[in-house]
Amino acid sequence: MDIAAAPHVLPGSCDFTVFGGTGDLALRKLLPALYHRDLEGQLPEDYRVLGVSRSDLDDEGWRAEVRAALATYVDPSDLYEGAVERFLGRLHHLMLDAEDPGDWDRFHALLKDRPQPEEAVRVFYLAVSPTLFGAICQRLDEIGVVDERARVVIEKPIGHDLASAREVNESVGRVFDESQIFRIDHYLGKESVQNLLVTRFANTFLEPLWSSHWVDHVQITVAETVGVGGRGGYYDHAGALRDMVQNHLLQLLCLVAMEPPTYVGRETVRDEKLKVLQALKPMTPADVDHDTVRGRYVAGLVDGAEVPSYADDLRPTVGHGHGSSTETFVALRTEVQNWRWAGVPFYLRTGKRMDRRASEIVVVFKHPPHPMFPNAEGVTTPNRLHIQVQPDEGMRLHLTAKEPGPGGIRLRPVSLDLSYATAFEQRLPDAYERLLMDVIKGNPTLFMRRDEVEAAWTWAEPILQRWSASPERPEPYPAGTDGPTAATTLLERDGRSWQEPDR
Ligand code: NAP
Repeated sequence: MDIAAAPHVLPGSCDFTVFGGTGDLALRKLLPALYHRDLEGQLPEDYRVLGVSRSDLDDEGWRAEVRAALATYVDPSDLYEGAVERFLGRLHHLMLDAEDPGDWDRFHALLKDRPQPEEAVRVFYLAVSPTLFGAICQRLDEIGVVDERARVVIEKPIGHDLASAREVNESVGRVFDESQIFRIDHYLGKESVQNLLVTRFANTFLEPLWSSHWVDHVQITVAETVGVGGRGGYYDHAGALRDMVQNHLLQLLCLVAMEPPTYVGRETVRDEKLKVLQALKPMTPADVDHDTVRGRYVAGLVDGAEVPSYADDLRPTVGHGHGSSTETFVALRTEVQNWRWAGVPFYLRTGKRMDRRASEIVVVFKHPPHPMFPNAEGVTTPNRLHIQVQPDEGMRLHLTAKEPGPGGIRLRPVSLDLSYATAFEQRLPDAYERLLMDVIKGNPTLFMRRDEVEAAWTWAEPILQRWSASPERPEPYPAGTDGPTAATTLLERDGRSWQEPDR
């Protein structure tokens, strides 16, 4: 066991500071998540949530904003007036410009204005632009509120490339030890993603099949129906590879491909994920040309409604869009070059304004080695394990069965379904609920370590470099479709096709 590691226990006291307490992430995700955990009585007995922003709000003003956010983002059946009041009573707001060194004495005073037990934990959640990470950490250090029980949480984007990721990691690492830095990837907090680990490692039937001997290929898709919305300014400098592939899709790939650790512990899982990232086939310029596809949406129909092109979506925030070569869709083929996975393609695909919203992993097994039912009617499709990450978290194993009836044999694909919602008949916590509790308890297993982030950038950077050097531009695809035709060809040339649900 991880004997050297401190146990993950709930501290008796915690100050949870959200820098950017009035922002979208805080109001839509973090505060509803804390409310839910409070409702379940899982937060420390003595805790406060301190919101920090430049907005001119006192405690009551911020509480009113949070109340409205809870009304919007929490299911009405989980909103109890007494519980909401109790939660809001824990909240305090401080108007502070993180970039102004003069303001920080007031933050120090707020943190110190009540006696706290020795074991009190301080969480600093940086729900602000990454450009502020370094300055905030430095100020926290200067005012003397970072001790060994302090934790800092940072969100993507962690860098724009390898060099800038290193800069972010170094600026935060100057103040916080790596063990105190929680780099959040909310995909890892999803029930179905954690269940992937349990399915693989708490059962025996899959492991003998989980390799190039029996797996034909793996597909990972994260498809969104939304466009760039109000994030155009950020997105036009990022694109789909930086925004989704370098972090979320590679993390999912790691969980599929990693070796079983000796046990599931704080460093063991991350060690194994790192090995997968280091084993990804490096992309040469020729590989980038051959194995990657970039797309960008043009006007189309999503759910029956007309939606504008990417360029038009950018206008309100950026003012233009035709000039940039930012991709809103990526499909690529890679391999994990190790003993287990040699030669097995991993196809990754992500896009905005697609025909459906879905995050899923499909492990496609090989055909049976010998056709045992040569005279059977119907179709034999290879077995597939379909892990649905969102929406409707669940898992489906596709098999071939005999259709009931006398006479000959007729084959038909059927599936064994595990729907989380129906199997467990309970509300599924949002990923942030799980992850915020892990931060408070000091469990970093589901967070990205510095070496993982940098290994992911090391792999992704040659793709970005090749694209930026290439005169080619992303292939247009109409909004509301499954992406550019080149993405279909990417698999067809290997004799495969993208697996859509229920097909
Ligand atoms: P946002 O809506 O623009 O909110 C930014 C927050 O930071 C606001 O509360 C803002 O309040 C505060 N802020 C800005 N400058 C400040 C300063 N100098 N001092 C103190 N507070 C300051 O952004 P967001 O969408 O919440 O995203 C926050 C971070 O999380 C970004 O890095 C984003 O990339 C990342 N992220 C967000 C999401 C999401 O779902 N929203 C998902 C993944 C990652 P004032 O303007 O009042 O100061």
